[in-house]
Amino acid sequence: MSPPLENDMPMQRREFLKALGAAGLAASALGGCAGAARGGPKVVVVGGGYGGATVAKYLHMWSNGALDVTLVEANPAFVSCPLSNLVVGGSKQMADITVSYDGLVKRGVKVVFATATSIDTERNLVRLSDARALPYDRLVLSPGIDFLYDQVPGLNNAAAQQKILHAWKAGPQTVALRRQLEAMPDGGVYAISIPRAPYRCPPGPYERACQVAWYFKQAKPRSKVLILDGNEDVTSKKGLFMKAWNDDYKGIVEYRPNYVLTDVDAATMTLKFETADDVKASVLNVIPPHRAGAIAAQAGVITANNRWCEVDFLTFESIKVPKIHVLGDAIQVAPLMPKSGHMANQHAKVAAAAILNAFAGVAPNPTPVLNNTCYSFMSDKNVAHVCSVHQYDKEKKTLVTVPGSGGLSSAANAIEGEYAFAWAKNIWADALT
Ligand SMILES: Cc1cc2nc3c(=O)[nH]c(=O)nc-3n(C[C@H](O)[C@H](O)[C@H](O)COP(=O)(O)OP(=O)(O)OC[C@H]3O[C@@H](n4cnc5c(N)ncnc54)[C@H](O)[C@@H]3O)c2cc1C
Repeated sequence: MSPPLENDMPMQRREFLKALGAAGLAASALGGCAGAARGGPKVVVVGGGYGGATVAKYLHMWSNGALDVTLVEANPAFVSCPLSNLVVGGSKQMADITVSYDGLVKRGVKVVFATATSIDTERNLVRLSDARALPYDRLVLSPGIDFLYDQVPGLNNAAAQQKILHAWKAGPQTVALRRQLEAMPDGGVYAISIPRAPYRCPPGPYERACQVAWYFKQAKPRSKVLILDGNEDVTSKKGLFMKAWNDDYKGIVEYRPNYVLTDVDAATMTLKFETADDVKASVLNVIPPHRAGAIAAQAGVITANNRWCEVDFLTFESIKVPKIHVLGDAIQVAPLMPKSGHMANQHAKVAAAAILNAFAGVAPNPTPVLNNTCYSFMSDKNVAHVCSVHQYDKEKKTLVTVPGSGGLSSAANAIEGEYAFAWAKNIWADALT
């Protein structure tokens, strides 16, 4: 593959390559070498999900391989949360939402399958579960979320967590929840508990309720779906979800707002709430409140409410620890910015450009624009979307939604079902190949 003409390159890449060229480092990269350059600045990325895989790819691609990019990921393959509700509902399988990291490896990103256990911010080292330590010039953390089990004491032990699932990180729990639904007798009740916002994927729990109801409608029509929402109202696509529950799943789905969970009793399969009466169900699906993934806490970049990482939205660099950038669900989001895979992908591109600029001694783009689209499956085929555009506001020093931008489907429909599958294929290709 021939390298791009210099005039076609984004500004920051041209400056970056010039800077590296002056240091005698970019020769192999400019020759189109696919492998990571030896001796180039080192960027370590922790977490190979929507944010981390994308930033690793774009750092490598935009530097023409001149950066030494290492991606550290705990799991052997990427498993997508988007579409994972369809596995719970039974219309898709795990293989449909699993993508290999081989594409990144072929590109020249070094992929290390290990858990990052600590960050030494004085010596700029990432320590791994396999006892290795990776040096970095810049570090990117995109570790997703971890759960605040201390806020649900009865769930704060391994046995309860095996019985009452979250399935809010796609993987073994997605399959296990599907098995629980299959094992449930017709006439049983599936109850999903939604934490107070902000949480990962605002429409996700309502989409899951639709998928379970879709399954029950076909296979267990006497069964019920109970949505116990810790929020005052449906937090996303309200009219569209309400319509599906009233029209398609009448008599199956029941929605209850203001159900703030305080505890569970796994022995009796009971949920306890701040004000409402206890609820028992055959299958309990509790999404506990969450915060930035544990490694962010370890690195000292959690700065908001002991939960989220505040960043400079021009660079996604931590406001507290220099040279550490944080992406995706782990950040304290800007107003009206959802915690979504699409957003994490966008964070990654802003951060990749800013990191290249930083190495080249160039200021970051002063007006980045990001967008989000989120599709929700009301059945196996009918889908509705919500989208938004977010631009940096110099005065407010944050990303704000652009007036008049964005939109919402007028009704769920099958054409958007096709678009939603295409969205998934495209974003996986964008991040992982
Ligand atoms: C059911 C469901 C449906 C959803 N649907 C949509 C949708 O339709 N559209 C959309 O845009 N978003 C959707 N989302 C939200 C989306 O999944 C998240 O917003 C997105 O995954 C966030 O990306 P991330 O990079 O922050 O975290 P993740 O994608 O979770 O990636 C984090 C990665 O870091 C790894 N990791 C964590 N700590 C370490 C460590 N110490 N060492 C090594 N590796 C580590 C994890 O293994 C993981 O692979 C959905 C979420 C759920 C749960």
